Amino acid sequence: MPTLKLAPGKEARLLSGHPWIYRTEIVQIEGNPGAGEIALVRDHRGKLLGKAMVNLRSQIAGRLLTRTDESIDRAFFLRRIRAAVARPGRTLRGSDACRLVFGEGDQLPGLIVDRYAHLLVLQLLTAGMDRQRETLVSILAEVTGAQAIYERSDTSSRHLEGLGQRTGFLVGAGETGVWIDEGGASFLVEVAAGQKTGFFLDQRENRQVVRGLAAGRSVLDCFCYAGGFSVSAGVGDATQVLGIDLSAQALGWAERSAQQNGLTARCTFRAENVFDLLRRFDRERRQFGLVVLDPPAFTKGRQALADALRGYKEINLRAMRLLPPRGLLVTCSCSYHVDLPAFLEMLRSAAADVHREFRILEVRTQARDHPILLAAKETQYLKCVVLEAVD
Ligand code: SAH
Repeated sequence: MPTLKLAPGKEARLLSGHPWIYRTEIVQIEGNPGAGEIALVRDHRGKLLGKAMVNLRSQIAGRLLTRTDESIDRAFFLRRIRAAVARPGRTLRGSDACRLVFGEGDQLPGLIVDRYAHLLVLQLLTAGMDRQRETLVSILAEVTGAQAIYERSDTSSRHLEGLGQRTGFLVGAGETGVWIDEGGASFLVEVAAGQKTGFFLDQRENRQVVRGLAAGRSVLDCFCYAGGFSVSAGVGDATQVLGIDLSAQALGWAERSAQQNGLTARCTFRAENVFDLLRRFDRERRQFGLVVLDPPAFTKGRQALADALRGYKEINLRAMRLLPPRGLLVTCSCSYHVDLPAFLEMLRSAAADVHREFRILEVRTQARDHPILLAAKETQYLKCVVLEAVD
């Protein structure tokens, strides 16, 4: 079996529980491992640290699978997938959609599996997991009994691994539009054309929070995509909901979900740039009892952090101005590089600029089916803060 030997001191992060090995930390490679092969990992003295999936093309040249010398075979992946699927917090009562495997957070780096009712969606992010496609598909069918598995291996990160894109049914066939149920609310999920694997499962519990806060309020859902927060607010008895997104296709899905839940009269969706809309609503002195901000990641790298924070501040400041006294702001960031302290500092600065005081009702993160590794900050990316305007 090929072996990676780490430079002196470079074993510390692995020993702390973090699963990644950077290419620059390797001093010696034996056995010329091909992309995605399994290799032994040793410290500079030769002590075994575990086994990793290797890809020397990538900056992240190794992803640790185990800290022992156990065999990495079908039985290994079966054990890991069984454990992931059974993890507490995976499912929400009354919901038939969840993330079954969240990569590093489930000790299966590079593997994402989502369940949408009867359909599983598989996303392979690394050369290591790409090599295991057939094994993984057979295990998923065995463990979940799924009759249909769709592949969405089309993330841009696959280029860094030297992989092309692959999409389509791996098991079964049929419609790619699936209706899911989330605590009595129905959502249309388009697994072939939607963002990520079709839906923002990571906002599941945050949607429940919005649902619980919406009663009697007019709601503005900015960056609404397929209407996750909008429909949840409607189901939670919001008086009116306005969802805004640039994607006409996503708004079409949102409208169908609103209709399915009997909310056509209360939910309106409009294609517009949120930055322009918030400026205009501010000028018109419009007010909403609850504003949701869930923008796309404004930065994928550390370099653009200052620009990203300016973008967040701009929309948060404008949204704050639309709130009446006791109005609520549910504000999110999925940029990993903007951490919680930076996000809160941005909110303080926005509040100071609008001369208003806010109470933090909740500081939240990604849904519980997206487990976070204590040692791997990268596994925690979503921030969701609920603010109430004091007056
Ligand atoms: N809130 C959604 C997820 C939002 S994803 C949910 O919970 O399901 C981010 C969305 O922002 C995408 O749908 C994208 O089309 C939209 N978007 C990106 N830039 C935008 C802009 N400037 N104005 C309006 N929508 C935008």
